[in-house]
Amino acid sequence: MSVNRCVIDLGALEHNFRVARELAGPDRRIFCVVKADAYGHGMVEAAGAFARAGAGAFCVFRVGEGVLLRRAGFDQPVLALAQPMAEEAELAVLHGITTTIYDEGPARDLAAVGQKVGRPARAHVKVDSGMGRLGVNPEGLPGFLRKTDSLEGLHITGLFSHFAVADVPGDPYTDEQAARFDEAARSCPDSGLLLHTANSAALMRGLVSDTGAARPGIMLYGSPPHPDIPGADRLLPSMSLTTRICMVKDLPAGRSVSYGRTFTTNMPSRIASIPLGYENGYPRILSNRAEALVRGRRVPQVGTICMNLCMLDVTDVPGVETGDEVVLLGRQGDERITAENLAARAGTISYEIFCGIGKANPRYYLR
Ligand SMILES: *Cc1c(COP(=O)(O)O)cnc(C)c1O
Repeated sequence: MSVNRCVIDLGALEHNFRVARELAGPDRRIFCVVKADAYGHGMVEAAGAFARAGAGAFCVFRVGEGVLLRRAGFDQPVLALAQPMAEEAELAVLHGITTTIYDEGPARDLAAVGQKVGRPARAHVKVDSGMGRLGVNPEGLPGFLRKTDSLEGLHITGLFSHFAVADVPGDPYTDEQAARFDEAARSCPDSGLLLHTANSAALMRGLVSDTGAARPGIMLYGSPPHPDIPGADRLLPSMSLTTRICMVKDLPAGRSVSYGRTFTTNMPSRIASIPLGYENGYPRILSNRAEALVRGRRVPQVGTICMNLCMLDVTDVPGVETGDEVVLLGRQGDERITAENLAARAGTISYEIFCGIGKANPRYYLR
């Protein structure tokens, strides 16, 4: 058993899926986004929790992640959000993974594999409605479909797009993107395509009309895309990060703590060291900005965060000893530190906090 523990509450993941199901309605497909090792929560374990709660489809980034889901026994539809490189096309077809396309070359590669294997490759076409990242420009969509939809061995089954600012309340850009996508969808000859645009933020705001599916990610991990988004308080955080104190020492006033001497005691202080630092996904930018929980109380992190160590000022907490549990993310007693809270202090988003912590620490699962 490791001293640093990233604990994932699978029950919370199941609960969050049920919230997404309620928002999406019974008939809309939910692609649970489990890319990036399920935002650091562990792809196979998270997908298992969502499946137990009724999930019927998943989104990954690359085809190879979909293959891992297949090997773990998941037979639900899987959509890879990345367009396959030539060498990924065959894997996609052999494992029945739907891929994303927006260029002709990969569409032809997929079609060729589909013909060879004797089973059509399935793909969803991505439209760039305003993200400026991946996808066919709306005006080019009819031409793209004319060239690709007729390819033998390729079956285009969906059309989708991604929002840039769906998390920002009232930003008209999201409506503009939705309108551009609707127009693009209407320009398609075939109307049997599965249409989808909503990420978590759009799903929580109810922006799913006229689409047959949604692709929530971050809400499934219990983190609201915006603090004021409707339903934010219904989500349950799943990931926590705990460690144990490895030294407690008393320092007089005027002593500095850690590299760079960025913190100096201004009174006699009790400083606890914990064996966890930026290598363990606790960003160095949090130095002198974060808080941790010790004996149910919030305490400030002090001094520069090191590679495998950092320090806490526990002067105000009576009885702190070596071996005491420390919570850096998650709940202890009545207190809770959320990924949103850490992210705000680190100048980033909860997604990055989850990815960093989840990948850098041994994970333990609660059911
Ligand atoms: C990551 C991703 C999502 C999920 O977004 P969340 O904000 O985590 O809900 C949906 N669609 C695409 C294309 C993505 O890349």
